[in-house]
Amino acid sequence: MSAIDGLPPLREVIARHGLRARKALGQNFLLDLNLTARIARVPGDLSAASVLEVGPGPGGLTRALLAEGAGHVLAVEKDARCLPALAEIAAAWPGRLSVIEGDALEVDPTAHLSPPIHVVANLPYYVGTELLVRWLTPPSWPPFWASLTLMFQREVADRIVATPGTRAYGRLAVLAQWRTEARIALTLPPEAFTPPPKVHSAVVHLRPRARPVAEADAAVMERVVAAAFNQRRKMLRAALRGLGDAEALLADAGVAPTERAERLSVAQFAALARALTARG
Ligand code: SAM
Repeated sequence: MSAIDGLPPLREVIARHGLRARKALGQNFLLDLNLTARIARVPGDLSAASVLEVGPGPGGLTRALLAEGAGHVLAVEKDARCLPALAEIAAAWPGRLSVIEGDALEVDPTAHLSPPIHVVANLPYYVGTELLVRWLTPPSWPPFWASLTLMFQREVADRIVATPGTRAYGRLAVLAQWRTEARIALTLPPEAFTPPPKVHSAVVHLRPRARPVAEADAAVMERVVAAAFNQRRKMLRAALRGLGDAEALLADAGVAPTERAERLSVAQFAALARALTARG
């Protein structure tokens, strides 16, 4: 397939720059430009927007984002071997792509991009969930980003969109759904990647709600949710013991002490967080 940017096929780029996938960096590359185009379309019109792309690798998704018309893309990549390939893409799209070599966990995108900022990433699992939780829990809301389009293992994606009473419902579902509308935009089989991972993957799209489902302090919300799901099968009066007088806390929030974390709604978690804040 000839690419619209006139750049060579990704297999050739990978061979020329010696980008053999490294397991330690969670490298499973997307080489099909039709697939990367589908992912790049998930956030909607990007023409007046900035994009933060975390982990561009050899640049398949980067190329798709630029071809879809993204105003400016900032790509943060930890693996220095990928930089020459990314420099070729920057040369094909003058002034539209900046690349930072570094750890996405340490880069402040707001120092480099102006809003609206859409985040798009195909990341290793361990970095992806840590960044997601960070992006969901800033002290004030709305956040710096206008949307998140993130690749996860299918099982993690299911946990983000899970509803109360299901096995997948937990910390990620509560934190995501409290402040955003989250949906699975597409699912991908292992063969979509080179090398193929062991599991299926899914792209999750999250848009910030103008206001959270219910008000609460983000740090307190995180504490309550972590304590509750740490012992998800226990009754909350036992699971929340580490937070102080659990019975009183539950009474203040109007939640039965015999209730269990996996059955609580997002609004009920927010009520517990408000009750904990009020108790000091
Ligand atoms: N986006 C490319 C694609 O779709 O083909 C590469 C995806 S690969 C799953 C993940 C990429 O994230 C790799 O290029 C890896 O080097 C990079 N990466 C891993 N940890 C990172 C981190 N902490 N900060 C920035 N990039 C990271």
